Amino acid sequence: MTTTASTSSDVFNRPAARFTDGGLEIRASALGQCRRALWYTATERLVTNPTPPESLTLVEAGNALEPVVVRAMRRSGWSVTPADRDDPVSVSVEASRGLIVTGHPDATGFPPSEGGATAAVEQFLFGEDEPSVQTDDLVIEVKTRGPEAFKRWQTLGAERSHPESVAQAACYSLGLFGECRDVVIATLDTGSRSWDYEVVPAARTERTWLNATGRLQALADHHEAFGPDPEALPERDFTAADWQCQRCPYLNLCRPGGAGEAEDDGESAEPVSDKQARAALREYEQAHGRIKSLEADKRGALETLQHWLQGKGERKARLEGSAKQRTVGMVQSRRYAVDHTRLNALLEPEQRAEIVTEQVSEYLRVS
Ligand code: SF4
Repeated sequence: MTTTASTSSDVFNRPAARFTDGGLEIRASALGQCRRALWYTATERLVTNPTPPESLTLVEAGNALEPVVVRAMRRSGWSVTPADRDDPVSVSVEASRGLIVTGHPDATGFPPSEGGATAAVEQFLFGEDEPSVQTDDLVIEVKTRGPEAFKRWQTLGAERSHPESVAQAACYSLGLFGECRDVVIATLDTGSRSWDYEVVPAARTERTWLNATGRLQALADHHEAFGPDPEALPERDFTAADWQCQRCPYLNLCRPGGAGEAEDDGESAEPVSDKQARAALREYEQAHGRIKSLEADKRGALETLQHWLQGKGERKARLEGSAKQRTVGMVQSRRYAVDHTRLNALLEPEQRAEIVTEQVSEYLRVS
């Protein structure tokens, strides 16, 4: 594996995939992208579904917040050296024959412990007094996520929730240090403006890198077999129902029927007109208003009852209601919390997958 690091300011503008003399070059931040979409990019097909302005604003807001995360880390005692945005260091890693991954690291540094990241985690987990390893600079990959994605990352760990960001950090570690070290994923919740971090140990980082580049090796092989032929398309990686397709810049090229084809499940539901939908929305608004007012009445009555109970110095009492006698009493509820940071550091992703499972439900929200 060949690795290099250099400085260049064009690095921000290069495409997610392109052909080079040596084969196929993939941008590190695109390691998780659909291989067919990367092929469209490399063969310079016209974008059919440009990113809407509001999504671009979200991306730009996320980028603008990255220095905020760096400053927050420093305030917490981290040693962080952020990339020079005007003159970023660029890394280039030859993942395998014909496949090069390039990118620019966000930052390097180490946690607020004299023993470096591994010792910091050990101290955190096991309360060890003495650091066991030398401080090494680590790659710090800075991310910003909405509240839901942030929670998902904290709960499942980066290797399960966002493996592409771990592979990206692995690329930078290989490019900067010539080896896969522990990497740090530092993430800001754009809703609450709080941040957290995860240290992914070197062995697990390397495995995620091998998984990501192994997947893309098929695309490099495709290139070797067909050359840069825009008509020789690789298989699709996602289904029309996946968000990757719904936000894909080549959606109409790849799926002329659009992502909506996924919803065509043959159900013979009666079509609903816009007029009927507006009437249903108004009905919903009126019902919602009534529920809110009833909830406020219920809260007020419960507060009065709680004060009455406290005044009697009791936790439970019987009281005559409109139809029957009722018991009014304090009930204690108990919640159990799992420290996902500790769990993620202790267990391999496969073990975590058996313990922390994910269930997805769908509902309609009116906001
Ligand atoms: S529409 Fe979906 S399958 Fe097609 S290129 Fe885009 S992400 Fe890949």
